[in-house]
Amino acid sequence: MIIILKQNINPRDKDYIQNFLENKGFAVREIVGDEETIFGAVGKISIDFREVEVLTGVSRVIPISKPYKLASRELKKENTIVHVGRVKIGGNRVAVIAGPCAVESREQIFKAAKAVRQSGAVMLRGGAFKPRTSPYSFQGMGEEGLKILKEAGESVGLPVVSEIVGTAHVDMMGEYVDVFQIGARNMQNFELLKAVGAKGMPVVLKRGLAATIEEWLMAAEYLMAHGSDNIILCERGIRTFETYTRNTLDLSAIPVIQQLSHLPIIVDPSHATGLRAKVSPMALAAIAAGADGLVVEVHPDPDNAMSDGPQSLYPEEFEKLMRDLQALSPVVGKEIEKIPASRPINVRTTDTAVTDKEKFIAFQGVRGAYSEKAIHSYFGDEVTASPKTEFRDVFESILKGDSAFGVIPIENSLAGTINENIDLLLSYPDISVVGEHKIRIVHNLIGLPGSSIDKISEVYSHPQGLAQCADFIDKHAGMKGIPFYDTAGAVAHIAEQKNAKHGAIAGEEAARVYGMEILIESIETNPRNYTKFFIITRTDRAKYENPNRAAFTFSTPDKAGALFSCLKVLADKGINMKKLESRPIHGKPWQYTFFLTVDIPENSTAFEEAVKGLLKYSEDIRVLGKYRVEN
Ligand code: PEP
Ligand code: MN
Repeated sequence: MIIILKQNINPRDKDYIQNFLENKGFAVREIVGDEETIFGAVGKISIDFREVEVLTGVSRVIPISKPYKLASRELKKENTIVHVGRVKIGGNRVAVIAGPCAVESREQIFKAAKAVRQSGAVMLRGGAFKPRTSPYSFQGMGEEGLKILKEAGESVGLPVVSEIVGTAHVDMMGEYVDVFQIGARNMQNFELLKAVGAKGMPVVLKRGLAATIEEWLMAAEYLMAHGSDNIILCERGIRTFETYTRNTLDLSAIPVIQQLSHLPIIVDPSHATGLRAKVSPMALAAIAAGADGLVVEVHPDPDNAMSDGPQSLYPEEFEKLMRDLQALSPVVGKEIEKIPASRPINVRTTDTAVTDKEKFIAFQGVRGAYSEKAIHSYFGDEVTASPKTEFRDVFESILKGDSAFGVIPIENSLAGTINENIDLLLSYPDISVVGEHKIRIVHNLIGLPGSSIDKISEVYSHPQGLAQCADFIDKHAGMKGIPFYDTAGAVAHIAEQKNAKHGAIAGEEAARVYGMEILIESIETNPRNYTKFFIITRTDRAKYENPNRAAFTFSTPDKAGALFSCLKVLADKGINMKKLESRPIHGKPWQYTFFLTVDIPENSTAFEEAVKGLLKYSEDIRVLGKYRVEN
């Protein structure tokens, strides 16, 4: 049963309710949501739930009608987001796990790890214990395989997942893997489910070859009842009369699971089809149908793979699939999950030795702004986003030591460059760029709780927000856009006005921060709307190991071919330019400074040589920062 607690319940009453239930033989889980705190109580006994309803501090009691309780949507309305290190699975992300069917050798798994990481996978897979149909087939490398899988994952910064086939392996495997996989053949191996569940680590639970959705959720319930909350369901095809493909991929399981359960669901198109050429189409279909991610078999040399070669993608095919997923994800309101960019070496926000000020990251705007989202997706949740009125205040706050870093928008994919920030970087030599981070901008129509779209007549937002949602506003006669100084500020404004006719266009964070409701999600005309941010800090702290990107500026004399000569230096050194802008030089009418970002070739001194070369043709060359960007 679900016990919804009163909002102002005191801790003593809460403890009393918990003890009451536990004494009756229930296992009790506390679930703290945005709006309410609930207890989920599951057990073999049934009691008259009015006995619970009368306890002080209880608001309501709802029986759970499904045989699976902890896994059910009835128990928990919000989607579960499974955290594996810094990788998140669930919510509005598409997380891709990739790697070979089996770990075969050190060389093979290291090559696979590098390839899938480069293309954008967030976790490495590789079986070390292979449940094969024939006892004569390759059975896997066992513990030795796990050891090298872990090393390969560490070499590229990816967590690893591997299949467990027996209860005796739980503790041993727990030393090597970040996530256990329970394979299709073991989905109803209840002793294994109990033992893995008790370990409390994340689990990818594959659907059995002939399992109904309910049986599958009951298997998840076993894991959860024994102590693991972080379950990722994986649809991998079921046995049907069709023999052309290895299995029949049941894509309809995705929306069904999403209705019945709060757990994330991913899809394995490799085992589902068994045919390489069918893997990418079904992977895309799975994401289109709403899956939270994929598990894809990728092998550096599929033709010589020891298992499942015919269904394994070549690294180039995987790379292409990732690019297609990048284009598809925004259409279904999602973003490809990435390994958070490796941080500048002096960002140590989880280190207890750092001062509190190290945890403050400055941004321009009010709480709930897109910049705040960028801060948390780059630095994680442990930092404190510190709002400033002007962009200049972000720079000043870093110089004063009030904030360790700043996060400033530099370019929007639709609206272009934010020139003010380039100019500020030019005028603050003691501030440097130490990172770059891109987030997708999703605009929502936000209103007072209980309001609805047909009531809204005035919509407040930043002029850019209004312009980017022009089609939506035009379609709704009687809705008028009203410019406001920023998007999140517009939400704060309607929260203050308390007028059901007022709406705002902003990100979901703003709705949450000001207790407002999202009336319609993702109303932008063009969903391919991204903003790139620079991470800035004090120049004397800006150090980066192994940078692969640089931002710098220079100006040129007023003569023919001046810019051309500079760009030629870059071309001759094989340096790829990512961005080039010109900015007028203050006080020198009709003279310009050029602002560039470029790729620095890995392990090379080409950039340093280019800077030397540029000195010959340009004036005032200044490197604003060298840093690392991830795929
Ligand atoms: C695997 O992922 O390697 C595997 C054996 O999958 P399944 O259990 O889905 O057959
Ligand atoms: Mn396989």
